[in-house]
Amino acid sequence: MFDQIKKAGKELLGGKGANLAEMTKIGLPVPYGFTITTDTCRSYYDSGQQLPEEVEGQVLDALKKLEETTGKELGSPSNPLLVSVRSGAVHSMPGMMDTVLNLGMNDDTVKGMAELTGNPRFAYDSYRRFIQMFSNVVLKVDHYHFEQRLENARAENGYTSDTQITAEDWKGIIEDFKSIVSAQTDRTFPEDPKEQLFLTIRAVFDSWNNQRAVLYRRLNQIPGHLGTAVNVQSMVFGNMGEDSGTGVAFTRNPSTGEAKLYGEYLINAQGEDVVAGIRTPQPIASLEDDMPEVYQQLVDTCNLLENHYKDMQDIEFTVERGHLYILQTRTGKRTAQAAIRIAVEMVREQIMDKREALLRVDPDQLHQLLHHRIDPGHGRPQIASGLPASPGAASGQVVFDADEAEELAGNGKKVILVRPDTTPDDIHGIVAAQAVVTSRGGMTSHAAVVARGMGKACICGCDSIKIDLETEQFTTGSVTIKHGDLITIDGGTGDIFDGAIPMIEPELSDEFQLLLHWADEEAHMGVRANADNPVDAAKALEFGADGIGLCRTEHMFMDASRLPTVQSMILSETTIERKEALDKLLPMQQEDYEKIFEVMQGHPITIRLLDPPLHEFLPDKEELLVDVTRLSYTDPDSQELQTKKDMLRKVRLLEESNPMLGHRGCRLGMIHPEIYEMQVRAVFQAAANVMKKGITVIPEIMIPLVTHVNELKHMRRLVLNISRQVEEQEGEAFQYSIGTMIETPRAALTADQVAQEADFFSFGTNDLTQTTFGFSRDDAEGKFLHHYVENDVLPQNPFVSLDQDGVGKLVESGVKLGRQTKPSLKTGICGEHGGEKTSIQFCFNLGMDYVSCSPFRVPSARLAAAQASV
Ligand code: PEP
Ligand code: MG
Repeated sequence: MFDQIKKAGKELLGGKGANLAEMTKIGLPVPYGFTITTDTCRSYYDSGQQLPEEVEGQVLDALKKLEETTGKELGSPSNPLLVSVRSGAVHSMPGMMDTVLNLGMNDDTVKGMAELTGNPRFAYDSYRRFIQMFSNVVLKVDHYHFEQRLENARAENGYTSDTQITAEDWKGIIEDFKSIVSAQTDRTFPEDPKEQLFLTIRAVFDSWNNQRAVLYRRLNQIPGHLGTAVNVQSMVFGNMGEDSGTGVAFTRNPSTGEAKLYGEYLINAQGEDVVAGIRTPQPIASLEDDMPEVYQQLVDTCNLLENHYKDMQDIEFTVERGHLYILQTRTGKRTAQAAIRIAVEMVREQIMDKREALLRVDPDQLHQLLHHRIDPGHGRPQIASGLPASPGAASGQVVFDADEAEELAGNGKKVILVRPDTTPDDIHGIVAAQAVVTSRGGMTSHAAVVARGMGKACICGCDSIKIDLETEQFTTGSVTIKHGDLITIDGGTGDIFDGAIPMIEPELSDEFQLLLHWADEEAHMGVRANADNPVDAAKALEFGADGIGLCRTEHMFMDASRLPTVQSMILSETTIERKEALDKLLPMQQEDYEKIFEVMQGHPITIRLLDPPLHEFLPDKEELLVDVTRLSYTDPDSQELQTKKDMLRKVRLLEESNPMLGHRGCRLGMIHPEIYEMQVRAVFQAAANVMKKGITVIPEIMIPLVTHVNELKHMRRLVLNISRQVEEQEGEAFQYSIGTMIETPRAALTADQVAQEADFFSFGTNDLTQTTFGFSRDDAEGKFLHHYVENDVLPQNPFVSLDQDGVGKLVESGVKLGRQTKPSLKTGICGEHGGEKTSIQFCFNLGMDYVSCSPFRVPSARLAAAQASV
């Protein structure tokens, strides 16, 4: 019973049950009831969806006490007790599970109710509501059958509203409802209230695993084993006449955060009428005119509850014949904008301190405020949906080719690049496009990582669109979108819309800035950004990054104007030839670094030497083959044919079965040290030039994909040699360090040895996840990972949220072993997980010095870092 619960938390009672007990304790008018615990739900599932034996007796005992307290009896024709039976999980899952109201009604109790209340219309209305709800939730009869019967009743009598339906009308409808039940199921409607009760308890437990609830849990990362509690509570009636009503109130506005009561209500109605939208509810402010005393009591209760829970509350209430009852209170869901305003204002109002306020905002929500958003009132249906890979919204003309995207954007057109997937070759198209859509690939596919890095909207793995590159169109369902057609995408939800949809500008309010300032005061871990060009570097600083944690230098090789030189470097037959090409690339890289150093003004910058397999910079093999075949016929003696043949031979030579496990990372530097030498020289020459302007430069040279300490030993020597040469040549002394990425299990397991050669470790958890699971990060999501997550084989996508049990063990071992050798070793993370809140908490617990993520995730990482420290 709510009033007898001494100390039991949400884990056992569920959120609703715990709050009902709490409200009862502080003296609020809560209808009496009892809670069946989440433990019971777990036992129910453990024993193959059977109620544990002892539960039946316990429920009957609690029911007896409820009958004594209320002075009513379940099933009594003269003084019937009616109850609501509601779900209530630990984490609020609004509307996802089932509820039955008015339980206890049958052909006898309805007569008693009619007499007791002197209101037969009310009694029969309640009865038909019960039949409808019970039959739907428990007996699985579709609502449609009942709605159709009601529609006929309204039409036959010319009624415009359900309040016009009389008691006599309801009696006829009830008989028809029962016939519907018999026709749709193989049983009659159960008249025994106890049978009704136990059937409903089971149905509510079952609803823990209905499709909606499972999906909601997956989206919100709520574990599936927790189970729901069930709350059995005596009914109060908002449909007893004009002095009764029901409504919902938020203690503050959930969309703007304004500190003003917000909500709506209906006179003479029950809860589901507000939700069903049959009648338009009144704004809460007009309750002051309709029922001034009740309104004042509601305002006082809202204030009391908000102060008690120190958070904005979402409250359900019912007024029965002028008496206010509180049926539920829970923490109100809110937009990011509202969350920030409420947190900041509650500190100002001294309801909470800054540390508590920091915990009130979900870091994941902050993305909403950093990107253009689709106007929520647009009301247009989506035509397809994929993985929400990078938030933000964009409209543009559809193009299917990166070169064309670049060309059209150069002419001032807004385009959306739609591809089966993207490769580094498409980078210029991604840069030029407003947004990217791929039909294959997951959240860490190339398109996703690159788009997120640029703060560009992106949808990946949208397999419901069928792309035809030949005819340049895609189809989804019955809709065909042709090259040049306008579409809008929402990278935050994964939805694609036909045509242009109005947008809202991002809002970086003063409150937002203030909250992040508080976050920095609390955080004991730095936040850096992954950035490889001056624009991203500037964005990173604007969003409050402490430095660059990962500068992927290969992106500098992808620039269309440089690609021919990069290709001639790769195609060189001799080291001399290769060096010639590298000499041409050196000033280009140097210029890039100079620009970034200037923007970063003394903040540290981790520069990673070349990482991807070289063939990624070369043209597509199939295309070359077509060209060679064509030229062999049309122009057999041409130089072009010879060049293409050379290229094809080299592409074939570089081809690998498993490129991600092949000749990449520091293996490139080991076999072709001249490539890394050029890069290192470019870094230090750039540093010297910028330092001469009086700007501090702190480069951190990072060696990728190390598996054995000896690799790092060689590469460290290479870096030291070059830096010494440049120091002598330029007459400057550099303040720099040399470190490595930890991206392979072997590196993590031998981190004590690796640390002998490293000043810092940066955990590349994208590759570490790939190499630990043995899942290809480019293929897994589209092919099977989706299925794994949907079917609870894996609790979450390990490329999004760090797999703490497996990959996390290696990270932990890496940090510990590394520091064992070198206590001063700096450690950080630069995989995609560096911007994800649970992974950030994990890194903090391991004592890491910083996390690094794309610039647009920096604000949310700052907040998550603070939350980890609080
Ligand atoms: C990583 O592997 O985590 C990483 C940051 O490197 P990349 O994604 O460039 O392979
Ligand atoms: Mg990597």
